[in-house]
Amino acid sequence: MIPYGRQNISQDDINAVIDVLKSDWLTQGPAVPAFENAIAEYCGAHYACAANSATSALHIACLALGVGEGDIVWTSPISFVASSNCALYCGAEVDFVDIELETGNMSVAALQEKLAIAKQNNRLPKAVIPIHLAGQSCDMQIIAKLAKRYNFKVIEDASHAIGAKYKDKPIGSCEYSDITVFSFHPVKIITSAEGGMAVTNSAELDKRMKRLRSHGITNHPEEMTEPSHGPWYYQQLELGFNYRMTDMQAALGLSQLSQLDSFVETRNKIAKTYNSSLVNSNVKHLQQSADSYSSYHLYIIRLEGGLCKKQKEIISSMRYSGIVAHLHYIPIHIQPFYKNLGFKAQDFPNAMAYYESAITLPLHPALTEKEQHYIIDMLTALTLSLKK
Ligand SMILES: *Cc1c(COP(=O)(O)O)cnc(C)c1O
Repeated sequence: MIPYGRQNISQDDINAVIDVLKSDWLTQGPAVPAFENAIAEYCGAHYACAANSATSALHIACLALGVGEGDIVWTSPISFVASSNCALYCGAEVDFVDIELETGNMSVAALQEKLAIAKQNNRLPKAVIPIHLAGQSCDMQIIAKLAKRYNFKVIEDASHAIGAKYKDKPIGSCEYSDITVFSFHPVKIITSAEGGMAVTNSAELDKRMKRLRSHGITNHPEEMTEPSHGPWYYQQLELGFNYRMTDMQAALGLSQLSQLDSFVETRNKIAKTYNSSLVNSNVKHLQQSADSYSSYHLYIIRLEGGLCKKQKEIISSMRYSGIVAHLHYIPIHIQPFYKNLGFKAQDFPNAMAYYESAITLPLHPALTEKEQHYIIDMLTALTLSLKK
């Protein structure tokens, strides 16, 4: 089977993990801060806080920004459930902003409209979490302007977008957001097996997130509320979690980071071949903005016209032929859990139209030319025969 995505592990990656296993520290050693510093430097941000997943990073990012009971957080319905679950963990409510069909990203027009209504109803969001779907940045400049006007915080869920750029700056520079979160799950662009990172330019937010990822405990005398009892002393100042990344994970992530740019280049090359081969007028790829250099975590096409009805048939036939075609994502608001919160499918019509037309094709750096041509030929044959 040709998978839709997979990790790419080198001998250097393996050696980096073995070195940690032979060292004094399996966790809370030097590899985690080394990985954090390298990510911050890569992104051009001041601080980075590693966590055991992007989900954990999103949770402590929300908490650090003060999201809690009585607050509302808005995100996109076309994402993984973690993008909205993080707000519910904090006791906040969640609502969604519909997407732009052509890119799959949160529609800034829909956001603007929803904000105007929310202001009238005194129900403005505390935070908005845009998702850079498939690795293409949302229109962050406009989102940042709206954040200022309506006074909400912005967390970029950049789980798909490490190595991508927006207006020639790396995603993660946090020029247009308070915090940016990355995922290092094996299907993502670089991996630490499980792992995530929250980058920010705020020392205060970084300090808060680092405390929350480790039980709410501090070792820093200047943060303590009483004089130290002695050299063993620490204080728990708030309720935190054990969301720590291990040194084995950080060493793998750090080693992978050295290949990030070449992974993203290869992904762009493969995407370009798809773009130029899918000339069938009923198959469109996600529209790319001139402001964006995508990391192409996913290669998503959309079926148009009568072909939409054949989406399931196309995905099934491709799988039958050894190609793992996929669908990212099931709109979060139609998950049974979210339906029980009161959401209806037609609350976000573009998200539904997208769901009924999207297909993810395999894309990862080790995908061979031969495999890609097999995928293209199979898809072309299927769409031509099914159009009739
Ligand atoms: C993968 C993913 C997450 C969760 O990442 P984990 O590291 O597995 O917790 C969150 N948001 C999006 C958009 C993702 O794709």
